[in-house]
Amino acid sequence: MYFDGTQLKKVFLNAKSKRFGIIASNVVFDSTIRGLLQGYNNNHSDGLLQISSGACKYAAGNSKDIIIGAEVISSIIKILSKQFNNSGVGLHIDHATPNYFDFIKECVEKELVTSVMIDASKEKFEENVRITKEVVSLCKRHSVLVEGEIGYIKGTEDEIVSETELYTSPEEALAFVIQTGVDLFAASVGTNHGVTKGEKVELRLDLIKEIDDLLIDNGVETGIVLHGASGLTAKQQQIAIRNGVVKINKDTDYQYYMAKAVQEYWEKEKDAVVCPKNVHYDDYTPDKKRFDPRKWIIQAEQAVKNQVESLVSISGSKNNSIINN
Ligand SMILES: [Zn+2]
Repeated sequence: MYFDGTQLKKVFLNAKSKRFGIIASNVVFDSTIRGLLQGYNNNHSDGLLQISSGACKYAAGNSKDIIIGAEVISSIIKILSKQFNNSGVGLHIDHATPNYFDFIKECVEKELVTSVMIDASKEKFEENVRITKEVVSLCKRHSVLVEGEIGYIKGTEDEIVSETELYTSPEEALAFVIQTGVDLFAASVGTNHGVTKGEKVELRLDLIKEIDDLLIDNGVETGIVLHGASGLTAKQQQIAIRNGVVKINKDTDYQYYMAKAVQEYWEKEKDAVVCPKNVHYDDYTPDKKRFDPRKWIIQAEQAVKNQVESLVSISGSKNNSIINN
């Protein structure tokens, strides 16, 4: 089923108290969405689907109208998820930078999403707090959850950045959570995409615990989000969750397994569209039964389903849906 923001809040509180992680999966197409919904539901696991501004532009077609794209994706999710009663999903906007404030506002007011990420991490701390607070106040009125981000390198064009600047400082995290009232925040612990580009950065899973302990000690326990997690081992993800992570973002993983499944199909079924070298073209007929897009796109859909099923087992959200629990 499709959750509203209030139900989604319950999902994250439950995950935090039981120490398991919700897999947040980036989507663009109906095939990905179907694969994910089936995978989450088969495993009685709640989940979150995510859209980026780029995904919305793609979904809209040549107009690249991000609102149209968000409406398309949101509608597909809301309609398809009606079939599934063992689990629920929400829809989240991933990495909306401050220039996308109007996009967030329209999505929230049109009830297209259940949660949003405002990523003002490239701004100075005070400015990040100011912008994030503004989004929190807008979203609270519509019971939509907000994820913020801290700990990013200030200005990627800066050539000289000390390594410690890559990581979220626990004190800053505490101040950010108290001042903004976010429901979730992305901490930079050495995985954040973009930040680690071209550099070898040490994964600091201990830092998650340090941040989590400090927030708990100050009575403001909050869900920590792990970005850029596709490259992590199962063990590393489980330690991150035990240390306080409740939302693990996955995008690249699915892209890879979808491409691999379709490649494997075409390697095997190539002669359905390409005349084999030993056959004369006059004697060759393409095979509609095998090039029907439903035959090969379903391979990608199955791959997504299999992958999310494995991810919810690793993160512990399997059999932990707030439905019937
Ligand atoms: Zn991210």
